[in-house]
Amino acid sequence: MLTALVASDAGEIFELDGYAAVGMAGAKLAPLTVAQTRRLPFGSELMMLPDRKPVLLNIDTGKLETLHENPYDPGEMVYPVAAFNSPGYVITRISAYGETRRSQTLPLFSYGAVGWHADGFRSAVVQVDAEPRQDLRQMPRDEVIAGVERMRRQMPDNRLRAHLENCALTYGCPAGKNFFLGRYEAPLPTAQACNARCLGCLSLQQNSDIHHSQDRIAFTPSPQEIAEVALAHITQVDGSVVSFGQGCEGDPLLADHVIGPAIEQIRSQTDRGTINMNTNGSLPDRLPSLFDAGLDSIRISMNSVRKACYDAYFRPRGYGFADVLASIETALARKKFVAVNYLNCPGFSDTPAEAAALEQFLEQYPIHMIQWRNLNFDPVRYWRQMDAAASSGEPIGMEVLLKQIRQRFPNLKFGYFNPPKEKFSYHHRDH
Ligand code: SF4
Repeated sequence: MLTALVASDAGEIFELDGYAAVGMAGAKLAPLTVAQTRRLPFGSELMMLPDRKPVLLNIDTGKLETLHENPYDPGEMVYPVAAFNSPGYVITRISAYGETRRSQTLPLFSYGAVGWHADGFRSAVVQVDAEPRQDLRQMPRDEVIAGVERMRRQMPDNRLRAHLENCALTYGCPAGKNFFLGRYEAPLPTAQACNARCLGCLSLQQNSDIHHSQDRIAFTPSPQEIAEVALAHITQVDGSVVSFGQGCEGDPLLADHVIGPAIEQIRSQTDRGTINMNTNGSLPDRLPSLFDAGLDSIRISMNSVRKACYDAYFRPRGYGFADVLASIETALARKKFVAVNYLNCPGFSDTPAEAAALEQFLEQYPIHMIQWRNLNFDPVRYWRQMDAAASSGEPIGMEVLLKQIRQRFPNLKFGYFNPPKEKFSYHHRDH
């Protein structure tokens, strides 16, 4: 078992001898073990959870305890500790805690279980993508700044370039940094509006007690501005990807009027690079013209393939889950590369009802890739929303779910990042 970690009022994190770390998935709580965890991935962050109580295992009594204060220093308040893991790692258990009357909704991060063992932090995660695309060790700030200055000279009047400067230098967006570093995938945020109201929307939170993570883009770049940024990346990076649909915008399908002409401009000058769109897939009728223009791949976000659970999270306006499925069908019929951005949360995604629905979905829609993405939303509040939407059953464990899907669909790619077209062929799935 791993030694439990707690935090003090001042946010100092320390191990609590005599207590074991505990992970939770819905109502299921169990001590963390070395076998279920791995060293905390580089670049991950540790968080203390305010106005909450850690649930730990008392090794002497063998009983789970909700701690209100430090048992070795009565009167000192202690708080739960969680890990926000680096990209490419799927969390298998949430840090175990209990809410209090003062608890407010947690900010938009994921809260993985973590403990201490043999002079190191260990995290309850499974790696699904080893590509160093967002490895902070390869993104030194001084090189990002040099790239910003270079692009500023190259395209001084380009508003999208200026927007990405703020993304890279203020928000620390890895995709924005990669544009200025000339690595892997560059972002092309374009859409000011969205026709969904996701509970965990990173760019717009209305009538909500949580703050969005970054401001939504406040203008619509022109096709020329989009093409200029995209070409600057594509022409200098081998195996490059440029992607519409970022965390600082609405949904790109609502900006197809500028995206279509931009893609045409890009493809009129080069067939290098991969043009991808991350989208909620709400408007299938807008896809054929984008594919005709040269869109290579799409990634569709969903937290569940069960309509009631999808609706409870995405809160769609003016479209339905059937439209999302129609977008997948349209792309598959056009032999485009299709990925699902699967927003997973232990305690819900690994329930029997979700697992069965996902298998049935993958049987019916031969998509090429699942990007297992940790849901950045308050887990306890999320379970409540999903329980209200549908019954799901007792969690079977994220490791079991991943193994089950892997065995049933051996050709389905697991990952985290949008692949370049040079890697598409490996993933082709027949019915
Ligand atoms: S689809 Fe994207 S932009 Fe729209 S509400 Fe959801 S997270 Fe926000």
